[in-house]
Amino acid sequence: MASPYKASGHHDLPTPEPDSPSLTRPRQPYRFSTLCATVDSPDADHKDQHGSSSVPIYQSATFKGIGNRYDYTRSGNPTRSHLEHHIAKISSAAHAFSVSSGMAALDVITRLLKPGSEVIAGDDLYGGTNRLLTYLRTHMGVIVHHVDTTKAESVIPVLQPGKTAMVLLESPTNPLLKIVDIAGISALVKEKCEEAIVVVDNTMMSPYLQRPLEHGADIVYDSATKYLSGHHDLMAGVITCNRDDIAKNIAFLINSVGNALSPFDSFLLLRGMKTLAIRMDRQQSTAMLVAQLLSKLGFVTHYPGLPDHPGKEIHDRISDGYGAVLSFETGDKELSERIVAATRLWGISVSFGCVNSLISMPCVMSHASIDPAVRAARGLPEDLIRLCVGIEDPADLLDDLRHALIEAGAITYAANDFVRIPNPINRAVEKLALGEPRMEPLRDNREWFVSVPGKVILFGEHAVVHGVTAVAASLDLRCYGLTSPRHDGKISVHFTDINDYKHEWDLDELPWDAVVPIPKGDEHPESLDLRVIEAIKTRALPLESQMPPKTHAAAVAFLYLYMMMTCSSHRPSFHFVCRSTLPIGAGLGSSASFSVCVATALLILHQRMELPSLPPPTREPTAPGDPGHVNLSHQGRRAIPPALAEETNRWAFVAEKVLHGNPSGIDNSVAVFGGALSYVRPGFGRRSGMEHVQGFRSLRFLLVDSTVPRDTKALVAGVARKKSAEPALVAQLLDAIQTISDEARRALADPELPRGALLSGLAALIDENHAHLVSLGVSHPALEAIRAKTSASPYNLSTKLTGAGGGGCAVTLVPDDFSDDDLQTLIDALKADGYQPYVTAVGGSGLGILSPYDPIVVDQQDDVSPPMSPPMTPSPRDEQEEPFRPSIRRRFEEVDVGELSQWASGRGKWLYV
Ligand code: PLP
Repeated sequence: MASPYKASGHHDLPTPEPDSPSLTRPRQPYRFSTLCATVDSPDADHKDQHGSSSVPIYQSATFKGIGNRYDYTRSGNPTRSHLEHHIAKISSAAHAFSVSSGMAALDVITRLLKPGSEVIAGDDLYGGTNRLLTYLRTHMGVIVHHVDTTKAESVIPVLQPGKTAMVLLESPTNPLLKIVDIAGISALVKEKCEEAIVVVDNTMMSPYLQRPLEHGADIVYDSATKYLSGHHDLMAGVITCNRDDIAKNIAFLINSVGNALSPFDSFLLLRGMKTLAIRMDRQQSTAMLVAQLLSKLGFVTHYPGLPDHPGKEIHDRISDGYGAVLSFETGDKELSERIVAATRLWGISVSFGCVNSLISMPCVMSHASIDPAVRAARGLPEDLIRLCVGIEDPADLLDDLRHALIEAGAITYAANDFVRIPNPINRAVEKLALGEPRMEPLRDNREWFVSVPGKVILFGEHAVVHGVTAVAASLDLRCYGLTSPRHDGKISVHFTDINDYKHEWDLDELPWDAVVPIPKGDEHPESLDLRVIEAIKTRALPLESQMPPKTHAAAVAFLYLYMMMTCSSHRPSFHFVCRSTLPIGAGLGSSASFSVCVATALLILHQRMELPSLPPPTREPTAPGDPGHVNLSHQGRRAIPPALAEETNRWAFVAEKVLHGNPSGIDNSVAVFGGALSYVRPGFGRRSGMEHVQGFRSLRFLLVDSTVPRDTKALVAGVARKKSAEPALVAQLLDAIQTISDEARRALADPELPRGALLSGLAALIDENHAHLVSLGVSHPALEAIRAKTSASPYNLSTKLTGAGGGGCAVTLVPDDFSDDDLQTLIDALKADGYQPYVTAVGGSGLGILSPYDPIVVDQQDDVSPPMSPPMTPSPRDEQEEPFRPSIRRRFEEVDVGELSQWASGRGKWLYV
């Protein structure tokens, strides 16, 4: 941008000295980029003995001698002095300091406050700033007023002479790019509260584009992690000021706290700053193109360079450019998540200011630390996407963004132009206008096929009840659910593995009068609606005693979810078949897997789940080898967006509650998200909750079902009795199991650990954990017999019981190099003893949905007629509807369980969480 400041050189930055008397006219002040690129010595003391053109790194903690300028690096270091001199020079500042991060800078500055001091801060601040201010408020007695600093009239009432100690400003704000009149507010503060200091976080602009000291600020700080360094290879913060008294205190605090920037980082930052202007020029010119593209497409776009941006004229007055951060709203959080996930060149990352372009959703990333209610109150849209533009070729960046918007279903290509697709909020408005939701007929008229893994507890079973961390992982034995359309106002289920249960209901006869449905997007309350449960039990099903075991609870869960999701007269009519390659009731999460199948199928059919939208027909290949079409997933990114997965998980948890009363939530979470999770129960004084074990790599296990039924409740009660009879022994065992869980988690998440070392480490932990479970009294002779067989020569494998023990399953880790022949011999031997062995992967993918865009692969045997049994009344198909796909239902119901998994994966492309 042509800056009136820079063009005329009217800034407070230093001019070349001395003016040469031989020149007929005085020298012009150096322009900013010249100042950036030329690093001067702070003073004669620093003259380099070898004339090095780059400032050397004085990587020394101490300096010899007495009374010299430098003695100890916490207090001063020559590399840092050069850096700080340079920062002061380009910031029109008398004093500059560099510390270990932007937050460290704010920490030093806020140490100038005292208990009772009042701070006025903006309401659209960086999340970390907000967090620190909250801490000061709750722990240090500082009073913080968050107001809309874009309006002087919001600031005036809270300015209290004698009380207001600090006014903290950010302009433009991050991420909404709101403009604060730094000059106007500074003048106001000086007029009303002379003693208050005005502090400005200038990170979004950098000294190149804005120098708030020139506009009345007392202290300016930057997260130099951003534009000043420019390459995301260091963390740093800088503080500048003109007032000597403030500088003295800040120098004292930095020396006392010891957070000054290290010599190496000082060197890196100095190097980065030399290219600040040239990077910024490129970044902000591309940012303008991006903002124009988004705004033209009709997205609410926040960028001060756009002509209608609120406060643009103020920004033009106090700054020299518009920066390279912008944000836009899509109107739909899930759509935003899909856009973010669909970009390739824009890296998903917090932070900004790097030479690489970044994309993020502040509400789930940089601003997640702000309470959602506070975010809402401050007008921070949950669907906001922030873009931080880098130095890549502008054409590539625009192209990538357009493709992501297409892939996510935000825009489409029509009549030779990109146009926006109305988003769900617009659609919701349309629906309101029409009175009745318009459902997609296509959705109801096709089959949906979902697949969900089971889970295995790898470490910490039983101990988890007593507050020890458990590690659970997904198991590639799966539950599959298929919905096929009906057109006769009925729903029917076939739970093949729960006693081959079949039932059919007339939709009109369900107890709708008992139901207050949960609106789309809202969460089910914590407790079940017992009125609905009761109505289902008494009016939609026979007595539990008259139904085959386990089928009653499964049918109640299915109907409960179906009815609670039905918000309109649209009641999808369909047949649901559920099959499982997981042994049922063996402690392998089959009920959670069933719950996730039901929840997913119902969310799809109730049109509560927006799947990644249909890819555009084709686009021109952009490079040799480019297939010319947009993929739904790429580079391992998840095809089912996290928000959808979370919503599914919440509903699956509701189904689990119907089935079990008080589930922990770990089984359904593993079933949805796959991989491995660690879990700590609340109420034991430790950090409770679930966490993904990052970087978990899939492992091969032999799972052996002892087929001995177990009574989980009795086993858990047995351990509790032992705990009260022998508290010291049990405490020791629980501690030992906690150590095992911790070590397992560390090993599983360690990307550096070689695979062989990981497997042998886990094997040792498995043996150890099993020994402790034996001491807790929860093993069983059948499990010990399985263990004896697998650990004997030549197998030498490690086995432990899993789940509650007392029967159920044992898990055996199978190293990668274990011979197939030995494995087969072992399996045969176990089968001969009456056990059921399964070879399976642990820690693989979670919920899968058969791609709605691939044709379903139909075998010869597949049923191509519209499916129905019991008999249905077929309705004439609407001519305008898309044709049915041939049904795979009959084959799905009939295929041998041993072939089910392979058959399912051959139906087409699966999208996974
Ligand atoms: N201020 C703003 C506007 C920021 O965006 C950030 C970091 O993202 C900070 C301050 C904190 O800086 P740092 O991460 O270097 O501590």
